[in-house]
Amino acid sequence: MPSRGIGLACIVFATATAAFAQAPKLAFTWDDLPAHSVLPQGETRVDIGRKIIVAMQAAHMPPVYGFVNGSFLLDEPLSAPMLTEWRKAGLMLGNHTWSHMDLNQSSMAAWEADVLKNEPVLEKYANGIDWHWLRFPFLSEGDTPEKRDAIRQFLAAHGYKIADVTMDFGDYMYNEPYARCVAKKDDAAIKQLGESYLKIADQTIDNSRAIAISEYGREIPYVLLMHVGAFDARMLPRLIALYKSRGFQFITLEEAEKDPVYASDIDPSLPAPKLLYYPPMPPDPPQPDMDLDAVCK
Ligand SMILES: [Zn+2]
Repeated sequence: MPSRGIGLACIVFATATAAFAQAPKLAFTWDDLPAHSVLPQGETRVDIGRKIIVAMQAAHMPPVYGFVNGSFLLDEPLSAPMLTEWRKAGLMLGNHTWSHMDLNQSSMAAWEADVLKNEPVLEKYANGIDWHWLRFPFLSEGDTPEKRDAIRQFLAAHGYKIADVTMDFGDYMYNEPYARCVAKKDDAAIKQLGESYLKIADQTIDNSRAIAISEYGREIPYVLLMHVGAFDARMLPRLIALYKSRGFQFITLEEAEKDPVYASDIDPSLPAPKLLYYPPMPPDPPQPDMDLDAVCK
């Protein structure tokens, strides 16, 4: 009997080892370049970009994509060098539409025009690299199957791949409260925001992995949605440390989306993916453990 017990333990151990033999993989992606959310007192968009670049370089992260909204350059002309520095650091650019237009709230013609209007900005700042990756603003891929399919054909005809999102902890929610807390010089509240941010990021890892296992029966390479906000920049070294502590290896968007689950977003002329169609499956995603609307008001 003891030998049988050991045998069973060995099988369980071998299975577990096989399942987790490979490090989970994660591709960071950044939205709303060059200016996301409100700018806290004393910050500049260029400083925020630099903090993000430096933290990723320190982690030896491979080149990530940043998705650009050209209209933000008109809103905040001083943010333009952020894009130049992003490219100088070897980072990539993609299209997030000119004005961050919500496809589900607009006509197809207006939305398509907004995609095309952004292209000269990308051409100017991308400096020779291919920028034909599209991230849907608000992750809105079309509010009817017909609209979604027609937009996919439009994107395919214009040579775009779709930058998916398979991990999203709502990082953007923290940037406005942070700016309020900076204005109030409320360091205790900022510390609490940081703890909450890391906690929901950590919980979201488990949530995303549980979804992958239940839907695909295996781990997938994840594409993480981030925003170029002041609090994101401040928290990035600790966020990267969190993913490292959870065993993640950082990869490029291209490498992540080589996985077959992303095939129909690499080629949008293929039928829309059933499982990755946003909002993805989590019926019950983690929520912030504090009232972000109330903090520092
Ligand atoms: Zn966005």
